[in-house]
Amino acid sequence: MSLESGGGLLAGVAFGERDVRVAVANGSREILAQQLMPLQADHVADEGMERAARLLADLAETVSSGVEDISAIGFGLPMPVDAISGEAGSDAVLPGWRGVNVTDAMSAYLRAPVALDNTANLAALGELRAGGLRGVRNGCYLKFSYGVGAGIVIDGEVYRGSAGTAGEIGHVTIDENGPICRCGNRGCLDTFVGSRALISSLAASHGPLRLKDIVHRALAGDLGCRRVIEDAGRRVGVAVAGVVNLLNPEAIVVGGLLAEAGDLILGPLREALDRCAIPSAAATVELRPAELGDEADIVGAIHRASMLSHTNISIS
Ligand SMILES: [Zn+2]
Repeated sequence: MSLESGGGLLAGVAFGERDVRVAVANGSREILAQQLMPLQADHVADEGMERAARLLADLAETVSSGVEDISAIGFGLPMPVDAISGEAGSDAVLPGWRGVNVTDAMSAYLRAPVALDNTANLAALGELRAGGLRGVRNGCYLKFSYGVGAGIVIDGEVYRGSAGTAGEIGHVTIDENGPICRCGNRGCLDTFVGSRALISSLAASHGPLRLKDIVHRALAGDLGCRRVIEDAGRRVGVAVAGVVNLLNPEAIVVGGLLAEAGDLILGPLREALDRCAIPSAAATVELRPAELGDEADIVGAIHRASMLSHTNISIS
């Protein structure tokens, strides 16, 4: 492992709904060390940031460096964030983070500049620079896990929208009379294909299952689990057809825990997309699995840190 710095260490932090992954990389964005830690969903933001800062300090030491060598941090949260103000913008996923100024707090912990982003955007950036969206000008990363999120690529850049909340496909209304969503609206896509919906639809027949149990059982041939996954793929495909009509992307890559079901989910998704999108747009979009697996977010976070460190160098 070589530091070959030139700009010190780059750090990445990516919070999931149930865990946090941190990594340090050299100036060439090669990850030198990383760690994944489980996390309670109801933790407060200070606790989460402190833990991430401590893990980064430990990782810096393992690559014979120190926390003072970290030159920039890419920081991802699984929720809408205000990339300009640096504030976490929703309490639907990690309730302890809403309104917290993450960039100020993390910069104070680690004495390095922080770029805050939504993890779906970071994963899109990771896939764009080092995974399945390489070379794609207009595309989309679809994260299909405990909820559904998307990172949109337009003209070779991740598109964040006016306030950083672009890509919230999980909260597209599917049924305005549908169940109440954790965002407060009714009938969002997430209320049909989020982990709670999938798990509860199997509760009577299969008892309590975790999301990954559903994927594993479906792959092993369990008909009920297969049906739930196929239906979820179909519903997401209908929403993705809307994205295809609006953006006319050349490629959509699908990542997240549900993507591990492979063709079981991609097949119905593709069918629904072909059925619901404009034929010319559907015909030109390639749908394929993402390449970086559960590391897409952290790879994107390192690339985000690298962009920030280059911005800082050019300013000074
Ligand atoms: Zn919602």
